[in-house]
Amino acid sequence: MMRRAIGYLWASPNTLAAVAIGLLLCGRFRWVQGVIEIDGPWVRQTLNRLPIQPRAMTVGHVVFGTDLAALTVTRAHERVHVRQYERWGPAFIPVYLGWSLWLQLRGRDGYRENPFEVEAYAVDTPGPSMPDAADAESDRRWS
Ligand SMILES: [Zn+2]
Repeated sequence: MMRRAIGYLWASPNTLAAVAIGLLLCGRFRWVQGVIEIDGPWVRQTLNRLPIQPRAMTVGHVVFGTDLAALTVTRAHERVHVRQYERWGPAFIPVYLGWSLWLQLRGRDGYRENPFEVEAYAVDTPGPSMPDAADAESDRRWS
C-alpha cells in the first residue's frame, strides 16, 4: 500500500503533465485499474504524428490511446510502462530516450531493443483480444 502511494507520488510530475496534455487535447478520461486512460480524436491525431505512430503511449499513470480498442489490447504492455514510471519517476523519459539514442547510434533498433520495451513486450500475449464493450463501460468512472 505504502509502496503504491510512493509510486504514484514519484511518477506524479509525469502524470500531471500528461493530464494537462489530455485536457488540452479534449480527451475522454477513464479510470481503469488505478490508471487514467485517455482517448479521443485529437489524442489519436497526436499519436499518429509521432515517429513510431503508437496505438498507445504511457506517461506516468496516464495512458493515451488512439481509441478504446487500442487501450484495451495494449493494456498489459502499457501497465508495464506504468510500473517503470513508478520505479524511475522523473528520470524515466530521459533514460528511455537515452537508451533509444544510444541504440540508434550503434545501428540498432532504438524502439524494440530498448530495455524498457523489451520488458513491456515480454508480457504481451499473442492474439490480442478485442475489447468487451460492457467491461469497458464498467471501468468508466468519468469522461
Ligand atoms: Zn512500449
